Amino acid sequence: MAKPIHCAKCYQEITDPHDLMVVAKLGLVLRPYHTSCYGEVEKTLAHQWLTESRPVNHRPGNVAALLGLLLGLLAMLLLRRASPGAAILLTLLGFWPVALRVSSYALFERPLRREHRPA
Ligand SMILES: [Zn+2]
Repeated sequence: MAKPIHCAKCYQEITDPHDLMVVAKLGLVLRPYHTSCYGEVEKTLAHQWLTESRPVNHRPGNVAALLGLLLGLLAMLLLRRASPGAAILLTLLGFWPVALRVSSYALFERPLRREHRPA
Protein backbone atom coordinates (compact mmCIF):
# COMPACT_ATOMS: atom_id res chain seq x y z
CA MET A 1 0.00 0.00 0.00
CA ALA A 2 1.43 3.34 -1.06
CA LYS A 3 1.73 6.33 1.24
CA PRO A 4 -1.40 8.49 1.01
CA ILE A 5 -1.05 11.84 -0.74
CA HIS A 6 -2.56 14.80 1.12
CA CYS A 7 -3.53 18.16 -0.32
CA ALA A 8 -1.23 20.99 0.81
CA LYS A 9 -4.23 23.31 1.38
CA CYS A 10 -7.08 21.26 2.92
CA TYR A 11 -4.96 18.30 4.16
CA GLN A 12 -7.53 15.81 2.85
CA GLU A 13 -6.28 12.74 1.02
CA ILE A 14 -6.18 13.03 -2.78
CA THR A 15 -7.79 9.89 -4.16
CA ASP A 16 -8.53 10.70 -7.79
CA PRO A 17 -5.49 10.90 -10.10
CA HIS A 18 -7.43 13.33 -12.31
CA ASP A 19 -7.97 15.63 -9.31
CA LEU A 20 -4.23 16.00 -8.64
CA MET A 21 -2.46 19.30 -9.29
CA VAL A 22 1.25 19.29 -8.47
CA VAL A 23 2.76 22.75 -8.05
CA ALA A 24 6.41 23.76 -7.90
CA LYS A 25 6.54 26.37 -5.16
CA LEU A 26 9.29 28.86 -6.04
CA GLY A 27 10.25 26.39 -8.73
CA LEU A 28 11.84 24.20 -6.06
CA VAL A 29 9.39 22.46 -3.72
CA LEU A 30 6.69 20.19 -5.14
CA ARG A 31 3.30 20.37 -3.41
CA PRO A 32 0.17 18.35 -4.27
CA TYR A 33 -3.26 20.02 -4.35
CA HIS A 34 -6.79 19.09 -5.28
CA THR A 35 -7.65 20.88 -8.52
CA SER A 36 -10.31 22.96 -6.72
CA CYS A 37 -7.91 23.81 -3.85
CA TYR A 38 -5.26 24.92 -6.33
CA GLY A 39 -7.84 27.24 -7.90
CA GLU A 40 -8.43 28.86 -4.51
CA VAL A 41 -4.72 29.11 -3.74
CA GLU A 42 -4.01 30.62 -7.13
CA LYS A 43 -6.64 33.33 -6.56
CA THR A 44 -5.16 34.32 -3.20
CA LEU A 45 -1.63 34.64 -4.56
CA ALA A 46 -1.59 38.26 -5.65
CA HIS A 47 2.18 38.11 -5.68
CA GLN A 48 2.31 35.01 -7.85
CA TRP A 49 5.07 36.41 -10.04
CA LEU A 50 7.25 36.15 -6.92
CA THR A 51 6.23 32.70 -5.80
CA GLU A 52 6.17 31.13 -9.26
CA SER A 53 3.65 28.43 -8.42
CA ARG A 54 2.83 26.90 -11.75
CA PRO A 55 1.35 23.43 -12.20
CA VAL A 56 3.95 20.81 -13.06
CA ASN A 57 1.73 17.89 -14.05
CA HIS A 58 -0.36 19.71 -16.65
CA ARG A 59 0.31 21.34 -20.00
CA PRO A 60 2.56 24.21 -18.75
CA GLY A 61 4.79 21.73 -16.92
CA ASN A 62 4.95 19.39 -19.90
CA VAL A 63 5.81 22.24 -22.27
CA ALA A 64 8.44 23.61 -19.86
CA ALA A 65 9.99 20.14 -19.52
CA LEU A 66 10.11 19.67 -23.29
CA LEU A 67 11.64 23.12 -23.90
CA GLY A 68 14.07 22.59 -21.04
CA LEU A 69 15.16 19.28 -22.46
CA LEU A 70 15.78 20.89 -25.86
CA LEU A 71 17.70 23.80 -24.29
CA GLY A 72 19.78 21.43 -22.17
CA LEU A 73 20.63 19.18 -25.10
CA LEU A 74 21.45 22.11 -27.40
CA ALA A 75 23.66 23.72 -24.74
CA MET A 76 25.42 20.43 -24.14
CA LEU A 77 26.06 19.80 -27.83
CA LEU A 78 26.77 23.31 -29.16
CA LEU A 79 28.53 25.13 -26.31
CA ARG A 80 30.60 22.43 -24.64
CA ARG A 81 33.78 23.29 -26.58
CA ALA A 82 33.31 27.04 -26.99
CA SER A 83 32.26 27.78 -23.44
CA PRO A 84 32.16 24.80 -21.08
CA GLY A 85 30.98 26.89 -18.10
CA ALA A 86 28.03 28.33 -19.99
CA ALA A 87 27.23 24.88 -21.37
CA ILE A 88 27.08 23.37 -17.87
CA LEU A 89 24.97 26.25 -16.55
CA LEU A 90 22.49 26.18 -19.45
CA THR A 91 22.30 22.39 -19.31
CA LEU A 92 21.47 22.46 -15.60
CA LEU A 93 18.91 25.26 -16.10
CA GLY A 94 17.38 23.38 -19.02
CA PHE A 95 17.13 20.07 -17.21
CA TRP A 96 15.56 21.60 -14.07
CA PRO A 97 11.96 21.56 -15.43
CA VAL A 98 12.59 17.99 -16.61
CA ALA A 99 13.70 17.01 -13.10
CA LEU A 100 10.57 18.63 -11.63
CA ARG A 101 8.31 16.81 -14.10
CA VAL A 102 9.96 13.44 -13.46
CA SER A 103 9.84 14.00 -9.68
CA SER A 104 6.16 14.91 -9.85
CA TYR A 105 5.44 11.72 -11.74
CA ALA A 106 7.52 9.50 -9.46
CA LEU A 107 6.40 11.02 -6.14
CA PHE A 108 2.71 11.74 -6.72
CA GLU A 109 1.19 10.68 -10.05
CA ARG A 110 2.48 7.11 -10.35
CA PRO A 111 1.69 6.05 -6.75
CA LEU A 112 -1.79 7.58 -7.04
CA ARG A 113 -2.50 5.82 -10.34
CA ARG A 114 -1.26 2.49 -8.92
CA GLU A 115 -3.36 2.90 -5.79
CA HIS A 116 -6.56 3.72 -7.67
CA ARG A 117 -6.19 1.51 -10.71
CA PRO A 118 -9.56 0.09 -11.80
CA ALA A 119 -9.86 -3.62 -10.95
ZN1 LIG B 1 -7.53 20.08 -1.09
